[in-house]
Amino acid sequence: MINPRLMFPKMNSAIKLPFHTVEDLRLRTGWYINLRWIAIFGLLSSIAIGETMFKFPIAFNELIVTTIILSVLNLVYFFLWRFLPFTSEYKELGFAEVQIFNDFILISFIIHYSGGVANPFYFLYMVQVILSGILFPGAILPYVNAVLAAVVLLIWSLLEYFNLVDVYPLLGKPVPFEIMMISIAAFFIINFSSIYIINNFMIRYRQLKKIIDEKNLELENAIDDRNKAFRFSAHEIKAPITAIKSTLEVVKDLYKDDIKPEIFDLIVRAERRSDQVLRMVKEMIAITQYNLSAEKPVLEKVDFGELLSQVVKQQQSYALAKGIKLFVILPETEFEVEIDKAGIEKVIDNLLSNALRYTPDAGIVKMKIFKKRLSFGFSISDTGIGIAAKDLDLIFEEFYRTKEAKQMEQIGTGLGLNLVREIVRKNGGTITVDSEVGKGSTFTVELPAKFEDADTDDEKREYKNIYTHYLFE
Ligand code: ADP
Repeated sequence: MINPRLMFPKMNSAIKLPFHTVEDLRLRTGWYINLRWIAIFGLLSSIAIGETMFKFPIAFNELIVTTIILSVLNLVYFFLWRFLPFTSEYKELGFAEVQIFNDFILISFIIHYSGGVANPFYFLYMVQVILSGILFPGAILPYVNAVLAAVVLLIWSLLEYFNLVDVYPLLGKPVPFEIMMISIAAFFIINFSSIYIINNFMIRYRQLKKIIDEKNLELENAIDDRNKAFRFSAHEIKAPITAIKSTLEVVKDLYKDDIKPEIFDLIVRAERRSDQVLRMVKEMIAITQYNLSAEKPVLEKVDFGELLSQVVKQQQSYALAKGIKLFVILPETEFEVEIDKAGIEKVIDNLLSNALRYTPDAGIVKMKIFKKRLSFGFSISDTGIGIAAKDLDLIFEEFYRTKEAKQMEQIGTGLGLNLVREIVRKNGGTITVDSEVGKGSTFTVELPAKFEDADTDDEKREYKNIYTHYLFE
């Protein structure tokens, strides 16, 4: 039995990962640009409502011009973002800050043209402050932006109060000095406390994210190392076992007439053992091969019945040696499917080999292909030792073997079904098992048909509900 602890090498805690990557920032600036389109739409609606419904004395034409400038700028940002992506994280950060700065200026005009400090929408400045708290790592830029918002509001309020610019009094008369000061003070308090809270939160969030990224990388490396160690030892063991097996075969064939029946029997048993070990080693190699291969399975068009028959052929001699009747029920016509051939072949191979191994001599093993509207698959039933209800879920866990299985077949890894479940999941399917101790087991694998096969909307919905969240997750 392989000790799982030995498979995980000590983790290296010195690996560091930066939180901000250019891609990460790009995603955020893209989101910011989209948000601005929504804001522009909201702005146009508010201008229309303020002008027609409430008849506010706002500077309608100036507001429309400012909104057009904002839209043109957003188009420029969008084209830069989409077609001339920045290559360094600093340039991307600079791009975001330029947008925030321009927004401050334009919002300040919009607020001014729609009533100045009398218009509570001056709190819109805070959207930029909050965004900069989310976008920028470190404390400096978010605070600079918070100060900028406060200064812009103060300057416009003073200019308006001393009539140095045109005033658009929303309530018919200018805002009294005390109310203006209270409003500005309220803005300052909320502005600075928000950026303080957001900044603290974001710093913690980034630290946490960094730790998670580091741990993730360590885990991936550990799994990689485990797979390499696994593969290496499996390969090393394979050659001597194959040599032992061939030597035994030669001895058996050359000297079968010269040796005593007891010794012949011992040689046959040793040969059988070496077969078991060889099978186990091949399973280990298959597991690491699958784990090391590409994340997305490669899909190939195959005749499903043909694929199943090929696997059966490879194991027919083993079934014959045990006197097991092997029935295979295939579709009458060609049944073409597009699947991860290498993966599904391993699934069939593992399940069939288990059925044959865990069925006593002279038993029966049946394989059947089925085809449904949105799925297809196969089932393998045997008249073997069966699996107790308490073990049904556990057998899919790594290294788990039932008591009955250990008694019948001493050599086994407990890894095959884990790999089978992994492959089936990666292919968007399900595996179920139905069994009774002493009577036998049935394993059923169901895989999704192609999405295009779903005709009606209901079927498409059903397909998505069942499968797509598993598909290549
Ligand atoms: P291994 O066969 O090497 O032990 P697997 O992962 O293929 O590893 O199977 C895990 C366990 O599931 C087996 O040890 C056995 O207890 C049980 N099992 C799998 N297939 C069958 C079967 N057809 N009949 C009875 N038990 C089975």
